[in-house]
Amino acid sequence: MSGHRDFDIAFVGLKLGVHVFDYDVDDAFFADRPAQEFQDCQAHVRLSLDKHTNFLILKFEVSGTVGLACDRCGNPIHKQLWDDFDMVVKMSDDPDTLNEQDEDPDIFYISRTESHLHVADWLYEFILLSVPTQRLCSDADAGGGSCNLAALEVLKQMEQPEPETHTENPIWKGLDKFRNS
Ligand SMILES: [Zn+2]
Repeated sequence: MSGHRDFDIAFVGLKLGVHVFDYDVDDAFFADRPAQEFQDCQAHVRLSLDKHTNFLILKFEVSGTVGLACDRCGNPIHKQLWDDFDMVVKMSDDPDTLNEQDEDPDIFYISRTESHLHVADWLYEFILLSVPTQRLCSDADAGGGSCNLAALEVLKQMEQPEPETHTENPIWKGLDKFRNS
């Protein structure tokens, strides 16, 4: 799914009550956003929008998988996305001021004249927050037995200090003459 219009909900036309929206989010969604540390994203976000007269209650349920690199050996692994997030969107005459003043991150103000809800930035933020911080080949295996042992060996060698390379630059060689004189 690309095109930003797909992520705009014309909530004004909705009846009061709960409406469900489903979003499939893959790597294309992140293409024009800051670089991610994951790839091969197959996220699904179910948004329940409970419409009231002067406010909306949103619940974002994130599921699916992302491709990550194992923290220990760098092997590509896939991890589950599993989290949910609540938001309250309040309608106001002065949403900009209220958004600045209100420090509650779960409350967002929009203008009473607004007809669409732009959910792309929330989807982005909530998917990022759903990416697990524990990124190992196997969560159960803390000893590294399921890691790529060959890669671990290479990483170990890379940690050794590099032997100093003495490449003689002809310019410095010429300057040495002056230095020694
Ligand atoms: Zn690993």
